Amino acid sequence: MNKTKAYSAASAKSPLASDTINRREILEKDVQIEILFCGVCHSDLHTARNEWSDIMATTYPVVPGHEIVGKVTAVGSAVTKYGQGDLVGVGCLVDSDQTCPSCEANMEQFCPEGVFTYNSPDKHLGGVTLGGYSESIVVDENFVLKVPENLDLAGVAPLLCAGITTYSPLRHWGVTKGKKVGIVGLGGLGHMGVKFANAFGAHVVVFTTSDSKVEDALRLGAHEVVNSRNAEEMAKHMGSFDFILDTVSADHDVNAYIQLLGLDGNLTLVGAPEKPLPVSSFALLFGRKSLSGSLIGGIAETQEMLDFCGEHGITSDVEVIPIQQINEAYERMLKSDVKYRFSIDMASLKNE
Ligand code: NAP
Ligand code: ZN
Repeated sequence: MNKTKAYSAASAKSPLASDTINRREILEKDVQIEILFCGVCHSDLHTARNEWSDIMATTYPVVPGHEIVGKVTAVGSAVTKYGQGDLVGVGCLVDSDQTCPSCEANMEQFCPEGVFTYNSPDKHLGGVTLGGYSESIVVDENFVLKVPENLDLAGVAPLLCAGITTYSPLRHWGVTKGKKVGIVGLGGLGHMGVKFANAFGAHVVVFTTSDSKVEDALRLGAHEVVNSRNAEEMAKHMGSFDFILDTVSADHDVNAYIQLLGLDGNLTLVGAPEKPLPVSSFALLFGRKSLSGSLIGGIAETQEMLDFCGEHGITSDVEVIPIQQINEAYERMLKSDVKYRFSIDMASLKNE
């Protein structure tokens, strides 16, 4: 076992603090990665504070972080895809059975044996998997992604979760030129959704509760911005959308957005608020609308997304922070005060 520095939370009420954790010795298919940047996802906060206790309770201590970018420092004897010094990424998944129908269909995220990067049972060391707020990680090569060489690494890290989580449903629901697409919530996921929907050629409308984000929304690629708390502004878009992606992390009225869909329109939830959202069946009945969800994306699609970002020069807009500011970053995230993703410079962990 190798000891590595990390930041962990000891309980739902504890702040994150410096810790030392174990990583396994590399197995023959393993890649050892020195972590350079790790994005801060709202899921990290939900998990650290055990807000999803009904669905997947948190085991403590928890080391969050599933937007990992780093450099390969060692590989196992049977590794064929990567070598020392390669720039790589790791997202939310680190293992799956590779044989079930979901894995066969390149959707490892739905594998019943899927292992998330943190807070999943760890079959190697016991306990739970520990995430990217750490100096290094060891991952099976099939769950490691190639990172394009031409992109800013701090801004690449968030692509591993926020990027794929928005890219995948936009592709699945056929967002292309000529479609009117809404993005609800301009945070980490939302701002990537805007960039992708714009790059796919759609007419993009951002719904935000933050007046201070209007200019940024337009700069990021929105064609229109709606203050979602203004009923008149909302009413202007009634029945007009092909697709709406809802990235909101907290309690909100999803029916207000379903009403904005046109015939056969779809609203996909990627936001995962703590409490269930009430849905009006009438909002769906008229217009044969549908409501669905989406969870990150498979490994092959994540690679496709990274390659797309490399070709189109797309990265996340980040505020780089040292790990020592992580608790403050969580508080700012709760106030929707992130422009538009925190990315932790892991070199800061060396000071611990
Ligand atoms: P984030 O950066 O905090 O962004 C969330 C945005 O939602 C905020 O910036 C804000 O946008 C809006 N918002 C927050 N509170 C609100 C409220 N009470 N009413 C209306 N709007 C509100 O979070 P994130 O990292 O993008 O994650 C968003 C959600 O997606 C989280 O629940 C996260 O766990 C989930 N997630 C899901 C997946 C998946 O695979 N499905 C993957 C990653 C994350 P405005 O300021 O523009 O209003
Ligand atoms: Zn995430």
